[in-house]
Amino acid sequence: MGEDLEQFKQRIPLLEYLQRHHWRGHRVGAGPEFTGLCPLHEDSHPSFYVNVRKNLFYCHGCGCGGDLIRFVELSRHLSFRESVAYVQEELAPTAELLAHTAAFYQLELHRYPEGIQYLAERGVHDARIIEELGIGYARGGNLRPHLQAFGYSLERLLEAGLIGPQGPDTFCRRVIFPCRQQDHIVNLYGRSIGNAFPHRLLPRSKGGLFAWESVRQFRNVILVEGLFDLAVLWQAGFRNTTCAIGTHLTPAQLAQLRENPDLCVYIAFDQDQNQAGQNAANALLHGLDQAGLHVRLVDLPAGQDPNSYFTRGATPKDFAHLLEEAASL
Ligand SMILES: [Zn+2]
Repeated sequence: MGEDLEQFKQRIPLLEYLQRHHWRGHRVGAGPEFTGLCPLHEDSHPSFYVNVRKNLFYCHGCGCGGDLIRFVELSRHLSFRESVAYVQEELAPTAELLAHTAAFYQLELHRYPEGIQYLAERGVHDARIIEELGIGYARGGNLRPHLQAFGYSLERLLEAGLIGPQGPDTFCRRVIFPCRQQDHIVNLYGRSIGNAFPHRLLPRSKGGLFAWESVRQFRNVILVEGLFDLAVLWQAGFRNTTCAIGTHLTPAQLAQLRENPDLCVYIAFDQDQNQAGQNAANALLHGLDQAGLHVRLVDLPAGQDPNSYFTRGATPKDFAHLLEEAASL
């Protein structure tokens, strides 16, 4: 296979695989474990445990345990090689389909002025950042013929959630950010430029922390809510910025932050009028603090997020000052 087996297994977290196959587990306390009925034996009370940090499972009922490939071997009665192939098969087509889609939207950004215009309004103007993040534009109504020319059936597009059941494109008049994980696109985020519901993701996992491969090397990491926050901060030189797409971190994203025990996380969430951002930031701050990380809360002016802070004229120096002033617990 073309990539390292370990990396490949990391690409689909075991928990995500199980959930996609209708396993229902619940989290054990605040730790990295989930438990539920064992899919490998007749189980009457939950004896199957998944550790999302280690990406391993263990069943106290039948004694089976291991990683994703081991799970596929046992549940599908396949050999090791067959299991690897099975998981590859399951993943590859979607990643490839999303790559084709993202590339199409990227071209579209330069065909219609409204996408670039919207980016400029949101303070994103550096062509290198736009290119590096792979930002695109979905005008809507033209994705299907393009992808069908690549041989994708309508069913595949429906299944991936790119086309709605009634036929229209899921992303219409939206600026698109591809969510990458180890060079594979795992989801697409679309920000409406019109009146439609502002945020939209495909109905699949949002993946790990945004651009974690490049951000994980830093000792200080800035965590923001939205991809426009990330784009303006990268543009301003804060390349140590990552994003969870929302204020809720998935177990896999939390596990990424916990990789390095010396990490210092600067939380720069929205200072909403309704306190939602502050409450989420506080909850996360306590959670990460309990996990032993250094956490600091960036105090943006009332009603602002990092994106609006910059579009209202703040300079990199201003933001650096906020980081210095950021309070810890
Ligand atoms: Zn079992």
